[in-house]
Amino acid sequence: MGNRRKLKAKTAAGAPPKGIAIYHDMKVYENFERAAKRIFECVQAAQRNKPGAPRFLYLDIQGHRNEQGGFDHDAFELMQDFLLGFLGSYLSEISTPLFRVGMPGPQRNDLPDVLEIGYPDDGSDYGYEVSQLDLKPREREPADRKSPPTVRAIADYLGLDDPGCLICWRTPVERAHVVPASLGGSMDVRNFALLCKEHHAEAPDVADAESFWAWVDYAELRDSADKWLEAPDDLKEWLVGNGVKVGIGRRESTSFFSAVRRELKSLYGWGESDLRAVDWQDLMDEFHQVMEMATGKHFSIEKKISTHAWAYHVALQRCTGKGGRSMPISSLGEDLRGIGGLDGPDGVD
Ligand SMILES: [Zn+2]
Repeated sequence: MGNRRKLKAKTAAGAPPKGIAIYHDMKVYENFERAAKRIFECVQAAQRNKPGAPRFLYLDIQGHRNEQGGFDHDAFELMQDFLLGFLGSYLSEISTPLFRVGMPGPQRNDLPDVLEIGYPDDGSDYGYEVSQLDLKPREREPADRKSPPTVRAIADYLGLDDPGCLICWRTPVERAHVVPASLGGSMDVRNFALLCKEHHAEAPDVADAESFWAWVDYAELRDSADKWLEAPDDLKEWLVGNGVKVGIGRRESTSFFSAVRRELKSLYGWGESDLRAVDWQDLMDEFHQVMEMATGKHFSIEKKISTHAWAYHVALQRCTGKGGRSMPISSLGEDLRGIGGLDGPDGVD
């Protein structure tokens, strides 16, 4: 204790604080909003833990490529507009796959409390068009292929040495369509994810690519502790000893509709008021239309929690007319705690 006090006093007396490295890997399933929010929170934490220390940001990017092999819109916007244009003044140096720059001028340390992201007024090229229920792929000009790419080709696109499930890292993996072929999804490598059999069977079959990826992001947060299940015993022991959760343990079994409600709450941010605000019969009418037009049925699984949750979410947007566009909100972890049931009629389907 005495030692720590002395060290603190010395630092305060003038020795410059050591630099702090911040690393973020923008995953293929992260969009601009989620990546920007997470990087911002890391920089906030760095300022909290080591106030004023020079901050060095390292960004890696998985997938997120355009037709020419360059970075897609979200990745480019993250590097150019968010890092260089906004966050740069709160950093000393930025390294990305496109550039490495030392920031001119002294690093600012007066970080805002909240990150606010503005969107184009006309909503162009952003979110899912809920009034149309159209196909919304991530790739704008898909490669003209008649057969799916190999597992190896998808792994190469994602920068994986060994193909593993994007959510739990397990093998073997399956090639999962982002937007199903039955809904018009392409054979482009960018329309594929690698998932284990279990996660493939759980993933949504919907017309909106970003909602598929948002679900993968959500499932990764929910199940990431499973990544360590097949680690060597001594590593597992060390992880547990250091406070890392290994394995998600027993999942409580709930009814289908409770599971859908849980996902609406944790993935789409539904609250009690959202359900009270709408006429239940109207919602069900819209729900069936969305299911019919913009979802697919796979694996002979008649009822899929993730597909149903998405369809309820889009149906609610259609009922309330909220802007006409839907943006999946993947929870950043806090919503995963304290999951409870939402109010609403039971047994409706
Ligand atoms: Zn998996």
